[in-house]
Amino acid sequence: MVNTTDVKKAVRQHSEMEEFFTGGFTVKGRTENVHTSQSQTIKDKQAKLDAIAEEVHKCCKCGLGKTRTNAVPGEGNPDARIVFVGEAPGADEDAQGRPFVGRAGHLLDKIINAMGLKRSDVYICNILKCRPPENRDPRPDEVINCLPYLQEQLEIIEPEIIVALGAHAARTLLENNKSIGQLRGKLHDYYPSLGKPPVKLMATYHPAYLLRSYSPENRRRVWEDMKKVLSELNLPIPEKNG
Ligand code: URA
Repeated sequence: MVNTTDVKKAVRQHSEMEEFFTGGFTVKGRTENVHTSQSQTIKDKQAKLDAIAEEVHKCCKCGLGKTRTNAVPGEGNPDARIVFVGEAPGADEDAQGRPFVGRAGHLLDKIINAMGLKRSDVYICNILKCRPPENRDPRPDEVINCLPYLQEQLEIIEPEIIVALGAHAARTLLENNKSIGQLRGKLHDYYPSLGKPPVKLMATYHPAYLLRSYSPENRRRVWEDMKKVLSELNLPIPEKNG
């Protein structure tokens, strides 16, 4: 026979425990609800990123404002630990207003999934927010005008690591002129702004380059780079065959 006193006691204990883990926590004299403050931070970050996106959509600081179909501010987790930065939107991104949604984007999705993550876990954006005609290289004046948007995004998200995809992104963020062969494979420091601590940056091959030169060697190099990213974040490294 079930003892009703025991059942009532168990129910009371369970609801007390539930209340404890969802209630307020006292931290160094302050009382705050941990869950509320965390979700509030994420909401604040999203609101700030939305405000930047709104500016980007209206931006006409360079000639690309006239040739674009859609600006592509970036998307993803406003509180991401990893931000992937590409070069500039291509035709598919220009048509949809979203970053990395074409062939290179599908490969980037696969890389993210191979890392044991989902696209929605990370933030994805570009140095340029508008497509250069015929996918030509970004021009210096375009980069100078557009870079403040990315710098602001990075300051809001505060990622622990930035993955620069390809030479343009890596050189722009690291302010040097080295080749991607020289830059990839090791962690660098990205300096957000004066007085702010540096953020780790891993440079790797751009997925579009990988599609053009899909050799086992290049694929292995990108995977080695991503494993370093994961271990820097103390995340588990999934086993890969081949
Ligand atoms: N290549 C990039 O660098 N960025 C995109 O968003 C798509 C392709």
